[in-house]
Amino acid sequence: MSQGKNIELSLVIPVLNEQDSLQGLYGEIVQALGERYSYEVIFVDDGSSDGSFKVLEGLHKNDPRVRVIRLRRNFGQTAALAAGFRHSRGRVILPLDADGQNDPADIPALVARLSEGFDIVSGWRRDRKDTLVTRKIPSRLANWLISRITGVHLHDFGCTLKAYRAESLREIRLYGEMHRFIPALASWGGERVTEMEVNHRPRRTGKTKYGLARTFKVILDLMTVKFLASFSTKPIYVFGGLGGICFLGSVLTGLVVLYSKFLSEPPLNINRNPLFVLSMMLMTAAIQFVMMGLLAEILVRTYHESQDRPTYAIETILETPDDAERA
Ligand code: UDP
Ligand code: MG
Repeated sequence: MSQGKNIELSLVIPVLNEQDSLQGLYGEIVQALGERYSYEVIFVDDGSSDGSFKVLEGLHKNDPRVRVIRLRRNFGQTAALAAGFRHSRGRVILPLDADGQNDPADIPALVARLSEGFDIVSGWRRDRKDTLVTRKIPSRLANWLISRITGVHLHDFGCTLKAYRAESLREIRLYGEMHRFIPALASWGGERVTEMEVNHRPRRTGKTKYGLARTFKVILDLMTVKFLASFSTKPIYVFGGLGGICFLGSVLTGLVVLYSKFLSEPPLNINRNPLFVLSMMLMTAAIQFVMMGLLAEILVRTYHESQDRPTYAIETILETPDDAERA
């Protein structure tokens, strides 16, 4: 994250073909934040093909607090957000949508909540203004599932409007549709996460960029996130466990096969017993799982050691003066 003057808030706004809403949104931001905060507004033009960039250029010319990052092509909302985060200088980072669905007037309350001692305050669009069947119902299900699986209980992971302490974003790398999992990742890392109701409005102009397909991507990302988080330090426990189950299954079916051959009446030849094939398959699977676990162990070491990535997160260290000097 680049260093700058003492900026309190960085608003990060991904933009894909939103030329007609940008001016209005900018006006609302100025009105909501005015002279109360020192802030910057980072618009990330995610490969717009309409006049969005022209509008942004205009805003930037008139107001030095407006910064514009133009991506070379459309990389997707998550990537656009990541670019904006990387270039923010504020102590608090607030992403929001460019279409005016999030209300900048909510920002002061989010920031106040953050200063009560949280690292992330996530918006909750309680009264969401989107279509029911393609958006609200899938989102309900997805949120329920994400809460269950991550153990982090929020009503609305998908709400773009959130407030982050800048440090809580520094370590996080974003892929796919993953910006919605930041609160979960952060909470696993020991950060304090809470939520707060925010206003939500119908899209004013332009079209939504998403449909039902996003829900499936989100579910796949959820699996990845869960897997990475729970198992990324000890994959052999997972794969070894699966291997163990397969091994047991193989031994049990193998015993049944032997029983049918030698003890049952009439005896059943091994080559006529389908359980024999099952037993062999399970044994192969068991060996594969264990090998995969060992391979994963190597990968995990590379992952952590190549980036000097610790497997823990420190809150504070109380040092004796002596130690501090030596360090
Ligand atoms: N967006 C983007 N890149 C994309 C898709 C969307 O930067 O590939 C931006 C879009 O301009 C908007 C925000 O992400 O500011 C949310 O998109 P949208 O409003 O279409 O999503 P919805 O509110 O319908 O979930
Ligand atoms: Mg929208």
